[in-house]
Amino acid sequence: MDQAPTNLGAHTEAGPASVVTDYYRCPSDSIHIKVSAGRPATLTSFTFKSVPCFGRVAGVNDAARPGAGADTSYEIGSDRSMVLPFDPAEVVENFRHERYTAKRNSDRMLRAAYYTMRPLLGARVRQMIQRQLVRRRLAGGFPHWPLDCSVERLLETLMFAALDAREGDEIPFIWFWPEGFTSAVMMTHDVEAAVGRDHCAMVMDLDAMFAIKAAFQIIPEGRYGNVDALIDAIKARGFEANIHDLDHDGRLYADQEKFRSRATKINQYGKHYGLRGFRAGAMYRQQEWFSFLDFDYEMSVPTVAHLEPQEGGCCSVMPYFVGNLLELPLTTVQDHALFYILREPSIDLWKRQIESIVEHYGLISFIVHPDYIVGQQEQNAYRELLAHLAAIRESLNLWVALPAEINDWWRQRREMRIVRESDSWQITGKGSERARLAFARNVDGKLTYRLAGGHQTQPGLPAAPGAQRCPTVR
Ligand SMILES: [Zn+2]
Repeated sequence: MDQAPTNLGAHTEAGPASVVTDYYRCPSDSIHIKVSAGRPATLTSFTFKSVPCFGRVAGVNDAARPGAGADTSYEIGSDRSMVLPFDPAEVVENFRHERYTAKRNSDRMLRAAYYTMRPLLGARVRQMIQRQLVRRRLAGGFPHWPLDCSVERLLETLMFAALDAREGDEIPFIWFWPEGFTSAVMMTHDVEAAVGRDHCAMVMDLDAMFAIKAAFQIIPEGRYGNVDALIDAIKARGFEANIHDLDHDGRLYADQEKFRSRATKINQYGKHYGLRGFRAGAMYRQQEWFSFLDFDYEMSVPTVAHLEPQEGGCCSVMPYFVGNLLELPLTTVQDHALFYILREPSIDLWKRQIESIVEHYGLISFIVHPDYIVGQQEQNAYRELLAHLAAIRESLNLWVALPAEINDWWRQRREMRIVRESDSWQITGKGSERARLAFARNVDGKLTYRLAGGHQTQPGLPAAPGAQRCPTVR
């Protein structure tokens, strides 16, 4: 296990450019950002070169939600730094920590009422209410459905602006994934009840058939007995196990004091079973309280949460740190929502989401419940997804990895450095033999990435060796 530093950011350059240099792992002196003075105290919605933003911005009046306000741009200072009317680090934090949801209370009240009533309602009524809630959220427009990559789009736009400020120079960075993989795929299975536990072996068989590694999230208390044997069986077959909630009563984050004592128990289970990852029941979360969780990684933040009980979403398809905990967001629709809320028999939505995530080289993560793929139709859909992943794994050069492997890589990449050695750039640090040097360039007015060792002059090259297409960043 990698021992991560205790202080996030202690090794990074402070200042507004650090959010860009941390994301790309490019040399800290390659991007210079200055933030204009005179920003108001209130948070506002606006856009930056059409990318939705939410934060304090100079010269823009209040608007209701991200993307609704005025469009802003940058200027290039006399020292060739980029001058922005907002702090990009603050805007990215507001997205990742879902702070833009604070203004919307009607949804929260509806949800509270729903969960009070929930035990009294039948499955059909519950699904009807869920569908009604989803319709309201989808009509709300933000985060963008079926995928919102506002964080990546903002950072890409800033990288492009940095190239502009440097007059067309290329900027080296550490490619997002090891060995030049285009994107990562992470399959997870939350085990909800005894029926799910009894189908874990079947799901492992299915996954193994398509050479997909997966992680199973296990509820430690009250849902099904024999947790030890289940975790052993999962580990014995080379799959990963993680802790899923405490007893999954839907109230983990209802009260801070109770959460702290529950987190202590959850941490003890993690230690006892030697498990490094955590996911809360029903994707409930309160990112400000994550510091009480003693795990390496957390997996309860959806990219877009329109179909989850708790609204919001981190608007990002990349892992990110919350303190020293690595968040591995859920970037695709859950099987439950696909089958029972959208009532969608095909996997077209999953395919569309995968395509959009790959355009930003992101993490393609899934939750498929052993409890819900018992029926033939659902099981067929899952088989189809596995077959699709197996097919594009080669053609798109995808890294199918366990959460623990993604965690290890992301932590190593955070510690790596790009250094200039005589005429070339080198990556140094633990794990750097798996890292690939990449360059961001302006090719015909578009941000384009090029991996070292590829052809140097042609635009539109595959982002990774073996990839059939190179999604130019939009
Ligand atoms: Zn669950």
